[in-house]
Amino acid sequence: MNQEYSVAKFGGTSVADHGAMSRCAQIIADNNNVRVVVVSASAGVTNHLVALCQSALTPQQRQAHIDGVIAIQLNILEYVSLDADLAHGFDVTLSAFRSSAEQAPQSSAHSDELLSFGERFSSYLFTQVLREHGVAATRFDVRSVLKTDSQFGKAQPNIKATAQQAHAQLLPLLKDQVVVTQGFMGSDDYGDTTTLGRGGSDYSAALLAEAIGANSVYIWTDVVGIFSTDPRVCAKAAPIAHLSFDEAAEMATFGAKVLHPATILPAARSGISVFVGSSREPQGGGTWIQKTPQGDTLAGVRAVTQRKNQILLTLKSPEMLLASGFLARVFTILSEHKISVDLVTTSEISVALTLDNAPNASRPELDQQALERLSEFCHVSVENNLTLVALIGSEIVLRQSELNLMQVLSEFDIRLICHGASKHNLCFLVEQSQSDAVVQTIHQRLLEG
Ligand code: ADP
Ligand code: ASP
Ligand code: MG
Repeated sequence: MNQEYSVAKFGGTSVADHGAMSRCAQIIADNNNVRVVVVSASAGVTNHLVALCQSALTPQQRQAHIDGVIAIQLNILEYVSLDADLAHGFDVTLSAFRSSAEQAPQSSAHSDELLSFGERFSSYLFTQVLREHGVAATRFDVRSVLKTDSQFGKAQPNIKATAQQAHAQLLPLLKDQVVVTQGFMGSDDYGDTTTLGRGGSDYSAALLAEAIGANSVYIWTDVVGIFSTDPRVCAKAAPIAHLSFDEAAEMATFGAKVLHPATILPAARSGISVFVGSSREPQGGGTWIQKTPQGDTLAGVRAVTQRKNQILLTLKSPEMLLASGFLARVFTILSEHKISVDLVTTSEISVALTLDNAPNASRPELDQQALERLSEFCHVSVENNLTLVALIGSEIVLRQSELNLMQVLSEFDIRLICHGASKHNLCFLVEQSQSDAVVQTIHQRLLEG
C-alpha cells in the first residue's frame, strides 16, 4: 500500500463554476498526499447529456441541451486560459461532443460515449485551475486504466486489469505530479467508453484508490459529511462523525445520495478510509468511514434514508402445486436482464420485490421484455410512485427497546416491510407523496434529542 497517497473526488457542485473549482484547487494545494484527483461533470451537465440520449427530442430541444452543456464550459473558460496541451485536447473533445450529440445515439455504446463528455470537459478545466494554484497537474484519460465489462450504463469494473493498468501507467506519474482524471467512466475490452451509472464518480475514486494502493479517499461534495438523514429534507439532520463500512454502505444503498452505493466495496475490500466533507467548508469537519470507526458507535438506529421512484413488482404463480422452482425462474429472468432487486418478500406462491425507476437514470431498471417473459408463467402487477424508507444502524433488532420504533411505524400506511437479513437495516415502502413527512417524523422521534 502506498500509505502516503490519497485520492480526492470532487462532485458536480464542487466543479460547477470557476469559483467552486478554485476552492477545490486550494484543497489539493494544501494536501500533498493527494496524488489523484477524480472530477465529476460540472453540475447540470450530465442531466443535459442524459436528455440528449433520448430519441424523442425536437431539433430545437436537442440544440438547447447541446448549448446548455457548452455554456457551462464556456462560463468557466471566461476565467481561465488553457495551456496549449490542454487547449488542444479540449477543442478536439468539443468537436467530438458536437458531432456525437447531433443525433440520438443508436446504441447503448454510443449513449455511454455521449454521457462521458461532462467528465472529459471538466477534467481539462480543473487541471488548468490546479496549475494556476501552483500545483504540477496533468490530465489523464481514465479509460486507459479503469477497465470494465461491456454493460453500458452500469458497467462493472475489472479489478485486476484496472490494478495492472494503474501500476503501469498511473503510478509512475504520481511521484512528482498530481493526476486529474474523470469519474463515472471507463472502457471495455474493445476500447469502447462505458459508464458506471449515475453518481458513479464516487465509485471511480474508490476503485482508483484501490488500484494505486492509496490509504484514503476524500469525497468532496456540498455537505459537511453524511447526515442522520438528507439535510434537504430535515433541517435538524446532524452530521455523523464516524461510520463503519457496513453502515455507510447500507445508507448509500438505501438512498443517501451523498455516496454512490458501490463506493464502499473497494474501500472495505482494501481497508481504505473514506472521508466525506464539503468543498465549500473544508475545515468544517465531515464523516470518516472506516473498518473500525473511532469514537462511539451507537447501537440502534443511527440514520434514516429514503429512495424515491420505486417500483413494486408482485408476481404470483397461478398454480400453487406448480410453485416449486417458481422463485428460481423469477430470479433467473431478472438476472438475465441484469435487473437489480432491492427488497424481497415472499409467500409460498408469490413474491414481491422492489426496483429502481429513477428519473434521469442512464439505464432503465425494468424493461418490457423482462415483463413479458415473467407474464408467461405468473400474474404480474406493477405499482409505481412508492418510496423505500430505511432505518440504518449497527444493531437494529426488534426487542423491547425497539418498541418505540414499532409504535412510530404503526402510524404510517406501510405497503411492505423487510427486516432480518441484516442487523443494519429495517426497510419499508410508503406512498411517495408521504415519504418526506414519514422521514421527518421518524427522524424527530428516533434521532433528535
Ligand atoms: P456530488 O455532486 O458532490 O456527488 P450529490 O448531489 O451526489 O453530490 O450528493 C450530495 C447530496 O446528497 C447532498 O446535497 C444531500 O442533499 C444529499 N443527501 C442525501 N442523503 C444524505 C445524507 N444522509 N447525508 C448527507 N447528504 C445527503
Ligand atoms: N456526472 C455523473 C452524474 O451526474 C457522475 C457523478 O457525478 O458522479 O451522475
Ligand atoms: Mg454524487
